[in-house]
Amino acid sequence: MTTAVTIIGAGLGGLTLARVLHVHGIPATVYEAEPSPTARPQGGMLDIHDHNGQPALRAAGLIEEFRGLVLEGREATRVLAPDGTVLFDEPDDGTRGRPEVQRGALRQILLDSLPAGTVRWGHKASGVRALGDGRHQVTFADGTSVATGLLVGADGAWSRVRPLVCDASPEYVGLSFIETYLYDADSRHPAAAKAVGGGALFALAPGKGIQAHRESGETLHTYVALRKSQDWFAGVDFTDPAVATARIAREFDGWAPELTALITDGDTAPVLRPIHALPSGHRWNRVPGVTLLGDAAHLMPPSGEGANLAMYDGAELGKAVAAHPDDIEAALTAYEQALFPRSAEAFTHAVRVNEFCFGDNAPHSLIDMLTGHDQTP
Ligand SMILES: Cc1cc2nc3c(=O)[nH]c(=O)nc-3n(C[C@H](O)[C@H](O)[C@H](O)COP(=O)(O)OP(=O)(O)OC[C@H]3O[C@@H](n4cnc5c(N)ncnc54)[C@H](O)[C@@H]3O)c2cc1C
Repeated sequence: MTTAVTIIGAGLGGLTLARVLHVHGIPATVYEAEPSPTARPQGGMLDIHDHNGQPALRAAGLIEEFRGLVLEGREATRVLAPDGTVLFDEPDDGTRGRPEVQRGALRQILLDSLPAGTVRWGHKASGVRALGDGRHQVTFADGTSVATGLLVGADGAWSRVRPLVCDASPEYVGLSFIETYLYDADSRHPAAAKAVGGGALFALAPGKGIQAHRESGETLHTYVALRKSQDWFAGVDFTDPAVATARIAREFDGWAPELTALITDGDTAPVLRPIHALPSGHRWNRVPGVTLLGDAAHLMPPSGEGANLAMYDGAELGKAVAAHPDDIEAALTAYEQALFPRSAEAFTHAVRVNEFCFGDNAPHSLIDMLTGHDQTP
């Protein structure tokens, strides 16, 4: 194949695609908006699933490197009632098939596996246009441009490539997370550290929750979840961390102090993360020479699957291109025919997980899901 693949976005999806193409001897260039690999903290831990994230890493030839990153014991799961009562407590016995790694470390093994110069940092795609015959031109914010015979939008939720295939755009799902960190938790925040335990904590009630994870070292990473409108959040002054913390904590009045400490004792300013999604079942008609993967293709409510799906998409697309080296359209058709039903199923699951976590029967609905007693068809 003579056409080099042009990938927009060096997230986990775009990098997995570049790596799988490289394994098959197919050249690719990844254009990334951020100026360097360390420009932004890469966020917390990801559980990498045995049915999508792990097969993707196997296709990338990186499963051993991945195993070296796994943080032992972090698959433990606890569900607590707002008063701190432990309702569910499952230790990590190593058999759950969802080992936890730091996102930044995972991204680094993908970056290290690519030939030097594959990722062009500081290239923010600002415009895309069809040139005809399946070719496209991408213009970057610095005024430079590139023309390509195979363009892949791996540029996340607010994809600049997506408008080439459809006019859908993400909408707010009515849920936001507020992110906090507690450092040196065992010594400095022992009650909160004990409540979280060795892995993940879910303290939930209808419409709200505190979800925390023990990361590497003694760091507790928390997502406080609130089902509120964007107008409501606009009324919270996140430019003043103390004011924002107090306002968010007020939503959890009466909850056990070891839980609210995850909000009030934060060692970092609280960060608001509004959750958006594309429409359920989002798909598009085949457009020659271009496709999407990961959040660009199927942004969905959080369910612990998004990064896994992005990597799986990247691996599947890479394998499809390798299987049809002289016929890009056949490759993209095969990839998208599997992508759309896979994404639709994951979307349905994500909506259910969110209902289990923050719906009227929380936290018992989540426990039913975790114990396999959920009766929802
Ligand atoms: C709060 C929160 C918690 C989450 N927790 C989990 C979890 O525990 N497990 C899990 O599996 N998933 C989780 N997800 C979902 C997961 O983060 C995403 O689904 C995943 O990162 C998607 O990967 P991606 O490669 O498609 O896109 P991204 O990771 O968004 O990467 C896109 C890349 O494209 C770049 N880019 C964007 N625009 C441009 C442009 N115009 N030009 C060039 N480059 C551009 C970006 O800088 C970025 O590097 C979570 C999401 C959120 C919001």
